[in-house]
Amino acid sequence: MSKTYIPANLRSLVYERAKATCEYCLIPEIISFSPHQIVHIIAEKHAGATNQYNLALACMICNKYKGSDIRHYTDLNI
Ligand SMILES: [Zn+2]
Repeated sequence: MSKTYIPANLRSLVYERAKATCEYCLIPEIISFSPHQIVHIIAEKHAGATNQYNLALACMICNKYKGSDIRHYTDLNI
């Protein structure tokens, strides 16, 4: 969950850019079980900015899977 207040106009910009679709898995919000969320791509705890370039619309599943940490290739053992 975001600690920073995201202004309504910025939320609208991200929502409209994504066309109400999760920007990770592309599931439309209309067929999702819960409303999509505006999330930071790079988490705030890693100094991710609150701007249109670092915000994405995500479904609840993608947001939970993504978490707040930056994943590295070394985490994937490949
Ligand atoms: Zn998703």
